[in-house]
Amino acid sequence: MSKVILPGSTIGIIGGGQLGRMLAIAAKQMGYKIAVLEPTKNGPCAQVADLEINASYDDPSALKQLAEKTDVITYEFENIPVKAICNLEKCAYIPQGYRLLEISQNRVIEKTILNEKGFKTVDFEIVSNQEQLKEKIEILKYPCVLKTATGGYDGKGQVVLKNKSDLDKAYTLLTNSCVLEKYMNFKGEISAIVTRSTNGEIKVFPISENIHVNNILSKTIVPARVSAIVEKKAKEIAINFMKTFDFYGTVAIEMFVLENDEILINEIAPRVHNSGHYSIEACFTSQFEEHIRAICGLKLGSTELVQKAVMVNLLGKDLEKVTELLQIANCKVHLYGKTGVKTNRKMGHVTFIGTNQEKIINQVKEIFG
Ligand code: ADP
Ligand code: MG
Repeated sequence: MSKVILPGSTIGIIGGGQLGRMLAIAAKQMGYKIAVLEPTKNGPCAQVADLEINASYDDPSALKQLAEKTDVITYEFENIPVKAICNLEKCAYIPQGYRLLEISQNRVIEKTILNEKGFKTVDFEIVSNQEQLKEKIEILKYPCVLKTATGGYDGKGQVVLKNKSDLDKAYTLLTNSCVLEKYMNFKGEISAIVTRSTNGEIKVFPISENIHVNNILSKTIVPARVSAIVEKKAKEIAINFMKTFDFYGTVAIEMFVLENDEILINEIAPRVHNSGHYSIEACFTSQFEEHIRAICGLKLGSTELVQKAVMVNLLGKDLEKVTELLQIANCKVHLYGKTGVKTNRKMGHVTFIGTNQEKIINQVKEIFG
């Protein structure tokens, strides 16, 4: 696979949220045109795209139209029906394919295949009814966390079980198949964003340290405050992953770092990722540009870190801070153009940059606590 798609061509994006918007901005800067398929009209990506198609992600005539209007298609969202991508492949060029999408959509399949291929994950059990849940808790012990196999994101579809009193809440998830995981007392969370061009080249971005609040990514700190060995191991896992799964495009691999510096994979996303937003300002090439280069068969750009960064997500409740944030010289404000404001909805993000990591971490603490 080494089709080269040059600027002037049109890139189709399935999914019209903020990831699509930032992909589109990067692509347009390089001279590409953008067509987006998204059910909701005038969303974050459509606002910067050349063509908008409003239909469900698996609408056959909309997908046909997208294929006709574009030279290459990518997706920015992992809950697209796999069948739609599979069918679309017959008439369109989608370097990301559907296989990793299918795997990442189901936590049972994801963890099982990762383990089979030699990638370590948290110990887990498959659970689909109340009896099984009690049985498996005996094996994994409290505390543990129950997650729906499909459809969960940003901590939705998860219940942490500290003791028996949390069982009733956990039962509410059991309408679908779930995974029960041991609740890890990890040292920290990191992620590796890795890109593989259809020309075969692979590049990993600097490893980021991720801080979650209420199971939603809150902050990303780069460079991650981990040992050189952990950084090296995480990058090796990322490169090995791309080769093992033979994937083209960008993947985010979320990992837990244990007390003994062992690394476990938490989950993967076959797309650009929130924990890579820092790369827009802090790296020579952003994850968005890198992904566009990868699917267009271009040489990958340098992922070198040019400045230290702390990225903070702006949820609905943080929007009141925007005026203050706009006054800060080393802070870049990104707003996604979303209209419906909800307390925990990702509305934008900010990236603080600088040469002194401690200083920027303290600066963020003063503003966001
Ligand atoms: P989502 O799809 O919602 O991102 P994740 O499995 O990544 O689901 O969980 C979200 C966050 O919840 C993780 O980043 C981590 O902070 C916490 N978490 C998830 N699983 C575990 C676990 N087994 N032990 C400890 N914390 C966990
Ligand atoms: Mg996650």
